[in-house]
Amino acid sequence: MLSRIMSQADIDHVEKWFEKAEKIVIVSHVSPDGDAMGSSLGLYHFLVSMDKNVSVIVPNTFPAFFRWMPGAKDVIIYNKYKEFADKLIQEADVICCLDFNVLSRIDTMEEAVKNSPARKLMIDHHLYPGDFCGITISHPEISSTSELVFRLICYLGCFEDITQEGAECIYTGMMTDTGGFTYNSNNREIYLIIGELLSKGIDKDEIYRKVFNTHSEGRLRLMGYVLYDKMQVCPQYASALITLSREEQGRFQYSKGDTEGFVNMPLSIKDICFSVFLREDTEKDMIKVSLRSVGDFPCNKVAAEFFNGGGHLNASGGEFYGTMEEAINLFKQALVKYESLLLAKK
Ligand code: 5GP
Ligand code: MN
Repeated sequence: MLSRIMSQADIDHVEKWFEKAEKIVIVSHVSPDGDAMGSSLGLYHFLVSMDKNVSVIVPNTFPAFFRWMPGAKDVIIYNKYKEFADKLIQEADVICCLDFNVLSRIDTMEEAVKNSPARKLMIDHHLYPGDFCGITISHPEISSTSELVFRLICYLGCFEDITQEGAECIYTGMMTDTGGFTYNSNNREIYLIIGELLSKGIDKDEIYRKVFNTHSEGRLRLMGYVLYDKMQVCPQYASALITLSREEQGRFQYSKGDTEGFVNMPLSIKDICFSVFLREDTEKDMIKVSLRSVGDFPCNKVAAEFFNGGGHLNASGGEFYGTMEEAINLFKQALVKYESLLLAKK
């Protein structure tokens, strides 16, 4: 049914590691998104069904709209329970690195994971995987790590062991990394997989509502403010910019995840194909940069070149250590540098 995208050697290797392992730790990237949570918890439920001792550890908190996910309440937040998490990481037989491919993406957990004697397995879909895992399953052509987790479980011959809880987590990651199946979602096998997840009893409509329609009043008002007052459109470059200061976030009782999706909004304007969102972070002294594009404009190149980041062709991010004014200047420089590519899109 599903095409085999992973090598049999890798699948056999993973099977051996899982069989032998007693303690397994699953880690994912800083500021976990739906795919980080979905792939980690999807694998978590599977490994629990294999009677493994499994922990999911992420560097910092995740948005409230993922708290409903089965197993989310057992996810360990590294920056709150560092000592406990360090011990788990150190004593693990296998560490599964999900939805990231360079250690810097796990932030303060980097040293602990790097120094752990555990075998390391990467399952990820970002370009240019780093070389820190004994098994690297890297598929940038697949739209979510959650889909890779589903495939791996199937290739291991364990589809029957996927529970409704696991299926809900996997679906969440597939849904969020494709914007509710509106981008990176033309692979027909995605829909075969959704069919299989539905057979596990998931309610996909309810999952959509729980993730996308359970926000605070403050978020909606912030969205209105941003669209009315803060979005700058540069039609001559087919681009748009949104900036948001700490003070502005405070005015709307910002809580983590409240600006999720804002960067996509300018792309609903005709002929706008590149959007950047610059937000003063509320936890760290930096500006969080989000970039989105439509078509083949490579926002991951802009992220890497100008904002110490990376990501996918159409969805990337970075961190900028400097003032908002400097970040805005970099955005302008990027427009000038990429003018011809941007104009080719119009
Ligand atoms: P978002 O804009 O939703 O935070 O991130 C979109 C995508 O960009 C993520 O899925 C991830 O692939 C990538 N990304 C976000 N932030 C960073 C970053 O700081 N560094 C790198 N290398 N990639 C990032
Ligand atoms: Mn992902």
